[in-house]
Amino acid sequence: MPSRPLRRAAVATVLAGPVGFVTAAAWGLPKALGAHRRRLRRVVAGSPQFSEGKFHNRIPTPALSPANTRDGLLRQWHEERHVGLPGGPIPLAHAALPAEAAELAVTWFGHASALLEVDGQRVLLDPVWGYRVSPSPVFGPTRLHEPPMELDELPPVDAVLISHDHYDHLDLPTVQALLRTQTAPWVVPLGIGEHLRKWGVPEERIVELDWDGEHRVGELTLTCTEARHFSGRYFYRDTTLWASWTITGPRHRVFFGGDTGYTPAFAEIGARLGPFDLTLLPIGAYNDAWHAIHMDPEEAVRAHGDLGGGILLPIHWATFNLAFHRWAEPVQRLLAAARPRGIEVAVPQPGERIDVLDPPPLRDWWTAVGSAAQGSDQDAGVRSSVLARTVTRLLQLLPGT
Ligand code: ZN
Ligand code: ZN
Repeated sequence: MPSRPLRRAAVATVLAGPVGFVTAAAWGLPKALGAHRRRLRRVVAGSPQFSEGKFHNRIPTPALSPANTRDGLLRQWHEERHVGLPGGPIPLAHAALPAEAAELAVTWFGHASALLEVDGQRVLLDPVWGYRVSPSPVFGPTRLHEPPMELDELPPVDAVLISHDHYDHLDLPTVQALLRTQTAPWVVPLGIGEHLRKWGVPEERIVELDWDGEHRVGELTLTCTEARHFSGRYFYRDTTLWASWTITGPRHRVFFGGDTGYTPAFAEIGARLGPFDLTLLPIGAYNDAWHAIHMDPEEAVRAHGDLGGGILLPIHWATFNLAFHRWAEPVQRLLAAARPRGIEVAVPQPGERIDVLDPPPLRDWWTAVGSAAQGSDQDAGVRSSVLARTVTRLLQLLPGT
């Protein structure tokens, strides 16, 4: 039998891995989690969407499945988490961005991140350049492709728009980098200003709006519009508002869907603020269990019609593995639904710039990438659920920040 010091050393060695992992998992967490609920509430009180300490959708919206189906989801996660991986490398483009912003163009960086050029001005949408979209640096979904362009290659923008505070739309490292490289205001739904203040964004660069609120930047009017979703960066749910946005210039109009389920609000927004030359609509990360808060591709086509859209550019796919559908399925289903209705769709590679007034012919680059084979042993961008649950428990012990 080993001596007591030896046993201690053995125990220390066995624990070193998990303890190191847990420490690394928690490192930097308080900052990434964002503002404390009490501070958030002060800012958001008075909104018609806010009651009993939370924001609410206008129509009943189950955010996640009931507890009794969560075991099924966990099983699905164990068995099918690889299904959403690409079959090979995702090709990237490197757009040459013009010195002068165009009449109407869009550069897509993957997922919901894009740079709009509207009537000679630029608006950056949900910029996420980080490697992992999670509160932790060691677990949670990672990128399936590199950012197609460095952040400091972006030309000066006139505004940064944020749809909501989920990690795949609001990324702390990206905010910190943009603070050094850009001077534009951050135009965000109610409550998200508290996250930004905590992260060092100066007060004069923060514009917080409720649904139907407007902010003017040069000749562009940015209108915060309804979405059907939820929010939260881990501890607190729905203490900040979620939104879609319209970008209206003197000559062109764009709708940015962010992250949303299908909602009758699209038709109202279309009637009031449309029609739109371009819509950017989420098409990926759908699942029956959270259908109310994430559109599927067929619903995106319907939403585009409701909005009075011209060209549809799909977002919220390709870059992160967030659900259980095959990697290329969202865009394949989208095109199958859009073609019979005569809807024009632009599917850029990550990093590609589309001149919306003279779009290139649709070129299928995604079929060759394909989806990972069933049972693939590739890294699914996530650690084992045992480790994830360990970290989750640890997080529950931490005080709110
Ligand atoms: Zn979201
Ligand atoms: Zn999202």
